[in-house]
Amino acid sequence: METQKLSNGNSNYINIIMQQRQKPKEQKIPSKTIKEVSVAVAIGVSAVVIGGLLFKNKISPNILKLSETIDFKEATTLKEAIEYGTKKLGIKKYKGFEEKDLDVLNWINEGLTLCANKAKDKGQIVMPKKISYYTEQYFNNEGWQELAYIGPFGSLNISKNTISDFKNAAVKIINSYEGSQEAKNKLIETLNFKKAYRIFIAAANKTNKNTLSWNKGIFSTITHEMGHLQHKFNVRDFHFFQSLGTEQERPKKLAKGAEELLKLFDSKKDVAAKVSTYAKESPCEFVAEVYSQLAHGLTLDDDVMDLYQKLFGV
Ligand SMILES: [Zn+2]
Repeated sequence: METQKLSNGNSNYINIIMQQRQKPKEQKIPSKTIKEVSVAVAIGVSAVVIGGLLFKNKISPNILKLSETIDFKEATTLKEAIEYGTKKLGIKKYKGFEEKDLDVLNWINEGLTLCANKAKDKGQIVMPKKISYYTEQYFNNEGWQELAYIGPFGSLNISKNTISDFKNAAVKIINSYEGSQEAKNKLIETLNFKKAYRIFIAAANKTNKNTLSWNKGIFSTITHEMGHLQHKFNVRDFHFFQSLGTEQERPKKLAKGAEELLKLFDSKKDVAAKVSTYAKESPCEFVAEVYSQLAHGLTLDDDVMDLYQKLFGV
């Protein structure tokens, strides 16, 4: 799809999707929402949820033991997709999915399978306990609707609204391709979320509207969130994990040892910049972005890997 010729009109579609989910200026956001859903950028990105009081250090991770490669096969029914996720990926619960969302669930399951297979040598991986397809509107501090975020109890939450925006934007982009309408209609008819994601990202990358986070990988949203999940449990102490967030996410009193790591991170912004613009936001986002790239099979520079390990990346 990336090779399709794109018309100049494409950047407008990127603008459309970036604007339409921006919170209205007059909208009052409950402070709880701001606290719970923190950083993110315009598209394809996520947040670390800060519900510190809820769980302190006491949440137990949902660990999936890995001994062999998991073969992913696209499910043809919702029941089949859920069965795959619960049996092969150790997901305890799927919530909010309907039959028509099968393509989205397949995309999520495939992304999770990619992460699991990458972790095979370690013999285990932390999986989301629950996968929730939600319709509530959560806006981050910058006023963007989240595509995905990790919830306080280790759930992976995906926004139905943002997914639908992606699909609509992809349709508009296809319609802007050069070529016969018949061919375009054919593309649109068979458009599933994975294809829509690829089309949208290809178009976004052709414009100057950078998405900030790394998104060359087709599962980058899922792998980024999985990066947060692994990091959170690798750090163990939630207070410490929180202390490695952005300034808005950090607790007033930083965890012991966190200050040194924040200083180290600040002195290595050039290293973080090699990963993505978003990776410079905070140690947490850096770790998630690196994890995301590693999951997609990229090899990263030694100084990146060195910083990743120092910040408790998995
Ligand atoms: Zn993130």
